[in-house]
Amino acid sequence: MGTHLTAHEAVDTLRRFCLWVLARLDVTMLAETEGVYDIEVPKDWQIASTRTQRMRFTFDAAAAIGDGSIEVVAPRGRLPELLARQLAACGIVRHLHVRGQPASVHEIAGPMFAAYRVDGGGVSLAGCRLEDKAFLRWTTRQGEGDGASNGVVAGWLDSAGREPAADEIAAIGLESSEVTNSPPRVKPERLARWIDAVLAKVGGQAAAALSVDVIWCKYASGKLRFTIGDQACDLEFRGWAHTLKPPPIDCPLTREHTFHLSATSDGRIAAAERIGICAVSGRRMLDSELVRCRVTDQHVLPAYAGTCHVTGEPVLRDKLIECALCRQAAHPDSIKRGVCDVCRRMEAVTASDARLSRVLGEYPRLDFWRRWKLGEGTRSYVMIGARWLASLLIVIDRQTLEVSRLATGSRLQSQWTDVPETRRAEYLA
Ligand SMILES: [Zn+2]
Repeated sequence: MGTHLTAHEAVDTLRRFCLWVLARLDVTMLAETEGVYDIEVPKDWQIASTRTQRMRFTFDAAAAIGDGSIEVVAPRGRLPELLARQLAACGIVRHLHVRGQPASVHEIAGPMFAAYRVDGGGVSLAGCRLEDKAFLRWTTRQGEGDGASNGVVAGWLDSAGREPAADEIAAIGLESSEVTNSPPRVKPERLARWIDAVLAKVGGQAAAALSVDVIWCKYASGKLRFTIGDQACDLEFRGWAHTLKPPPIDCPLTREHTFHLSATSDGRIAAAERIGICAVSGRRMLDSELVRCRVTDQHVLPAYAGTCHVTGEPVLRDKLIECALCRQAAHPDSIKRGVCDVCRRMEAVTASDARLSRVLGEYPRLDFWRRWKLGEGTRSYVMIGARWLASLLIVIDRQTLEVSRLATGSRLQSQWTDVPETRRAEYLA
């Protein structure tokens, strides 16, 4: 667990730690010249080997050359150990916090609100919590050091004693923390107990720590409420306060991820990108509730559109053209000289054709007719049968086999005469 620090990192860590402890313990700094520090050691520190109460030390080995009285501070040296002992005895912990993190809910709310657009409505906070979460940064001496590492190992632990992954450390911004003089209020005994418990989880290595810092990070969680008229929808958010990004809204009606909400004419809140306007009525509806007319390309409510019986596509009712033969509505492109594609492309079929045999099964009298031709639309069959000079036109629903047109004709003329309702049975029953 933990990572070896380079010699430079180790010395830098030591230097910052030692100087902070000295300042925190109010040790008098007598002088500091060219990287050599001169301190007056407090009497109660009881250093057996020191006659004088003064100590000179440096973190830069070169600065001590030629002067044996200057201690070069090393991880295994006297000073770090002495300071760690004093610190532990006083129960003092160095507190840091992540640089630049928001201090209040207000600082979070502003940028969050700005990320969303709500047509004819607004966004508000429906609850927000800022929690202080603690991490431990520990350093410890390990082995003799190999020159490159200087024998200092450092690691992170979260409040539960787990080591956060490198990308998590980066995401939280732990590396860019700074000493704070106003850490969250925690009773010293509680903090000490927690630190002991966390360190105990990683065993002796960290338990014999050279330094332990507590880094405080603010974690935000809450709910945004978007309101238009008397309708509202909520969006939960959570994350490290200083890296918190406004999440997209998962539109409850369309599942579209959006930062822009609007309302339909009947007051439902939805992603603005998924709301369209009916070209006939002007009503604002979900895209999925409108159909596109294949003639005008306009989006309209289904009530204003019919279906082309040739292609099955929606077409504005007043743009549909009725076929002169089958009398069914079709897209203008599917009509040539007044007759639809289905009627113009009828093909000869025999009794073995499943469609024809099904119709004949339903209406046995049709068996009287021969030389059947059949055209198939999206809803119906158009069929023409012949016998001698007479012919019969029948338009029949594909599903229900209900007859919508029945007409007789003659092979000598092109006109069809509708069979009155009252006489239909003569042909069909
Ligand atoms: Zn037709």
